[in-house]
Amino acid sequence: MFCSLGGLQTLKILCLSILTAASLTVPNVVAAQEEGSVVDLSENSPALHFPIGRSGKQVHVVPAFEDYAYMLEDVCDAMGLDFDNCKIYPMNAEIGGNAIATILDGNKVIIYDRTLSPLVGYTGAMAIIAHELGHHFCNHMDASSSPTQELEADRFAGAALRNAKFSLEDALSMAIVFDERPSRVHPEKSKRIEAIKSGWEDPEQAKNCGLKNKIKVGT
Ligand SMILES: [Zn+2]
Repeated sequence: MFCSLGGLQTLKILCLSILTAASLTVPNVVAAQEEGSVVDLSENSPALHFPIGRSGKQVHVVPAFEDYAYMLEDVCDAMGLDFDNCKIYPMNAEIGGNAIATILDGNKVIIYDRTLSPLVGYTGAMAIIAHELGHHFCNHMDASSSPTQELEADRFAGAALRNAKFSLEDALSMAIVFDERPSRVHPEKSKRIEAIKSGWEDPEQAKNCGLKNKIKVGT
């Protein structure tokens, strides 16, 4: 259950209204800002953590501050995704310096922890959101997360920043929060940097989910 509310009726109503809203316009996001909902990020949730997983925890999420909603719009535009392919709800929550792509009640959601922003800056935040968008674009919610998927999302992020007219350095500004060593889910920093570069250098190829990484990952 991803919209767990502990009997709080007000939150329940808001939670449903946020997640079933037809529009993703900024005014709706701002209007709902104060309240939010509770999300259960358990091991079984289709969440993809960035950069380190933190699971089995209920967190309070709110519709994203408008900066992040605009960033999502910008990366969608940069990757040529139309409204249907970018029907994703940007949200903010304190999730230990993570960002997560997940599904809430059948809706695609990106949850971004604003504490990342002082570390990665504006372009880093945009790249992180692009990374999470990559998880949705490549339908990674259908399987458990893996290093392969993380590299795919990193390539997507590199491509999005290139297409949005940012430099390679800008695209790499999120790498400051990468772990040097690999984890069960995330590859080590050097491989992730390589993936971002690869996406930046060949943005069209970065949209071919599941092709390139079959060669590159697993070594
Ligand atoms: Zn990821």
